[in-house]
Amino acid sequence: IQIRRLRSLFNNSLTWSFFFNRRFSSQPARLDGKIALITGAASGIGKATAEKFISNGAKVVIADIKEKLGQDTAKQLGPNATFIHCDVTKESNISDAVDFTISLHKKLDIMYNNAGIACNTPPSISDLDLAVFDKVMNVNVRGVLAGVKHASRVMIPQRSGSILCTASVTGLMGGLAQHTYSVSKVAVIGIVKSLASELCRYGIRVNCISPFPIPTPFVIEEMVQLFPRVEEAKLEKMIFDLSALEGTVCETNDIANAALFLASDDAKYVSGHNLVVDGAFTCFKSLNFPLPDQNTI
Ligand code: NAD
Repeated sequence: IQIRRLRSLFNNSLTWSFFFNRRFSSQPARLDGKIALITGAASGIGKATAEKFISNGAKVVIADIKEKLGQDTAKQLGPNATFIHCDVTKESNISDAVDFTISLHKKLDIMYNNAGIACNTPPSISDLDLAVFDKVMNVNVRGVLAGVKHASRVMIPQRSGSILCTASVTGLMGGLAQHTYSVSKVAVIGIVKSLASELCRYGIRVNCISPFPIPTPFVIEEMVQLFPRVEEAKLEKMIFDLSALEGTVCETNDIANAALFLASDDAKYVSGHNLVVDGAFTCFKSLNFPLPDQNTI
């Protein structure tokens, strides 16, 4: 009778689909039980990464300077997301965010130093505004360095951890952004190299991701200043049209996937690396003249 019951249970298509989904189709939780702190996670890349981490089993603390947006994002992402106000230019705020994460979750496995700002400085070095330079470096470089410092403070005794930072393709090639922003992203890649060399001794990995342009709020705000009369949807299309990889565009989810890989044990021996997510954009420079027709050579 038991066997007949089991047989009828498995003849039921719903039972099969439940069994099949549980066994084969559900996404493996690659960050099961992990605790992450992400700066600049109220929107854009940080928010997409927080969502990705949570759907892979992590609990995430969202640290951002935007109080209301950060609270709304945490609410939207559900009970495994918590918001803390944090201005990365204030070392005490970063220190507090790390301590808050420890008091809430008892450990810190992943620190993602993602907060960053753009700037609309004049394109020529001869007109460089050093006050703007200081402001951008304060967020994009000093904020990242302080994040690594305070994450290390708790990860070194743990003898484990994954530290991520957001660099940019503008840190790999000149001419893609204003000097100030480019220089700040070159520095982020440098921070990763330098700190990975020390922190490897404690089992801590340090990596960064260099995204291709994505129309997140900070990029759109900058574009609006450059093209004040163009609608937002057109500005978004202008960014997406820059894509080098045929048939697709770079989206926040692509960066979240890169972050998931680097944060997870899939990257357990990857450290000091800059994962470039640019669809081959920085691999080539198009020739400025049309290629000769092969038949005429
Ligand atoms: P975004 O504007 O959506 O997100 C940036 C977040 O950082 C915002 O929520 C903002 O409130 C927060 N922030 C700004 N200053 C802060 C501070 N002092 N303290 C704490 N939080 C602060 O933009 P995004 O594109 O998601 O940017 C995230 C990171 O990605 C930045 O470091 C940026 O330089 C980098 N990046 C973006 C692109 C792109 O095209 N979008 C490309 C390469 C690199």
